[in-house]
Amino acid sequence: MGKATGFLEFERKSGDDKTPKERVENFNEFHNLLSKEEQINQGARCMDCGVPFCQSGITIKGMVSGCPLNNLIPEFNDLLYKDNLILALDRLLKTNPFPEFTGRVCPAPCESACTVSMNSSAVTIKENERFIIDFAFENQYIKSNPPKKRKDKTIAVIGSGPAGLSCSYYLNQYGYKVDVFEREDRIGGLLTYGIPNMKLDKAIVNRRINFLKEEGINFYTNSDVCINESLKTKVFTEYDAIVLATGASKPRDLNINGRNSKGIYFAVDFLKENTRNLLNKYENNINCKDKRVLIIGGGDTGTDCVATSIRQGCKSVLQIEITKPLPKDRLYDNPWPEWRKSLKVDYGQEEAIDLFGEDPRRYCTSVKEFLYDASEKVTGAKLVKVNWFKDNLGNLKFREVENTEEIIDVDIVLLAMGFVGTEDYISNFFKVDLDNRNNIEADYNNFKTNREKIFSCGDARRGQSLVVWAIKEGLDAAKSINEYLNLK
Ligand SMILES: Cc1cc2nc3c(=O)[nH]c(=O)nc-3n(C[C@H](O)[C@H](O)[C@H](O)COP(=O)(O)OP(=O)(O)OC[C@H]3O[C@@H](n4cnc5c(N)ncnc54)[C@H](O)[C@@H]3O)c2cc1C
Ligand code: SF4
Repeated sequence: MGKATGFLEFERKSGDDKTPKERVENFNEFHNLLSKEEQINQGARCMDCGVPFCQSGITIKGMVSGCPLNNLIPEFNDLLYKDNLILALDRLLKTNPFPEFTGRVCPAPCESACTVSMNSSAVTIKENERFIIDFAFENQYIKSNPPKKRKDKTIAVIGSGPAGLSCSYYLNQYGYKVDVFEREDRIGGLLTYGIPNMKLDKAIVNRRINFLKEEGINFYTNSDVCINESLKTKVFTEYDAIVLATGASKPRDLNINGRNSKGIYFAVDFLKENTRNLLNKYENNINCKDKRVLIIGGGDTGTDCVATSIRQGCKSVLQIEITKPLPKDRLYDNPWPEWRKSLKVDYGQEEAIDLFGEDPRRYCTSVKEFLYDASEKVTGAKLVKVNWFKDNLGNLKFREVENTEEIIDVDIVLLAMGFVGTEDYISNFFKVDLDNRNNIEADYNNFKTNREKIFSCGDARRGQSLVVWAIKEGLDAAKSINEYLNLK
């Protein structure tokens, strides 16, 4: 352990964000890191707990507690404190192939589980991780590392999001030949065409993909294996194993009057279009400039839509959410080390407050109908308040509150209400069974589907989740495929 009294001596300190006014001017990342000396003090706050809950990655009441990748957190914190960044990097890479992604976008379940957070502020684990990996890239310590020997077996990985990338990385390290097929024009899945550039710069994603290419992985873009005629047969005949890392990209829809009006889009279509525009420098087809934007869904995707609409120059933005707001802090029935359920003012809301003077979120609010004009363009939305209550069986239900209907003017509506599993054409093509949540059925331990030699991992298997889980599932699926191929 670095400094026995570190957590008593040093306050938690994170790097600054640029001010909302500065950062909404562009789509660049806006979080600055601390100086090396300051970050070392943050490493010193770690107590090297006998039972380090931060790295446990267990599930409590259906929510993750601690790092799903079981990152060796106390070890790299200690090495950071001792200014031994090379060894800290070594420990970080033992469990996590892509810390530059998690160090930027992970919601840090490790910090919710950190012991120091019981009566003070958690250790800045996520920022320590990012500091170590950014230092390593800046100083050219990250080098491509192709396998020394090649095996004579080839694996097809379908989908190039974090699950597909992680699975490919480990399979390639085992020595297999790996072909990754991606239906989009760029590699990265939601790392590229979901998470906005200001949270994860696409140059960071490309940098890693270039390393993976140098290490021998083959990537094929614009290659939908379920549609492309030449791939349809090839994928079944030419590979020793197939991995479905196809994500959970079927968006939840709204079945209400006016839903088909022009100007109503799914959140990911909007975010993807924005990133495409940014990378290819063409005109945005979905543009919020001077528009009144309504976002349906109060989660993180909704927040990304708020921030993107603002950067596009929207006239106003409202984000509605049917559930109640979370409490300001943990409640007694959500104790440490459980995932902290508390209301956060995230970057998008912070920017909206700065620009428009109020939090864009309205809770316990639902939409009943969309209004449209003669050209079928959306012009308004009928909102209503709802009340939550428990029925006789204790199930949480909601009902509309009388006389609370309100019509608001809107020009663009973004649907950010979550996802309902795997797209039908993928499961139909591969003839894989689905579970009761419409995800590909594959056991968590071996990742095998009902079809011989077909495996599945990431959101495709567990439903829409987190980058860290996608990486973890990719890693574990690669282990299982290695065992399967060794036994053949
Ligand atoms: C807007 C948004 C923001 C998010 N922000 C965060 C965040 O900040 N932090 C976090 O931890 N998580 C975040 N998430 C969740 C996270 O991005 C996902 O959990 C993660 O990307 C899942 O990885 P995956 O590889 O399983 O799937 P995906 O990233 O969805 O990748 C699946 C890939 O498979 C491809 N594919 C599908 N079918 C085919 C086919 N037939 N042929 C070829 N290719 C195919 C798709 O095009 C896609 O590229 C966010 C999600 C969204 C939607
Ligand atoms: S729980 Fe917190 S203090 Fe304990 S080892 Fe993990 S990071 Fe350090």
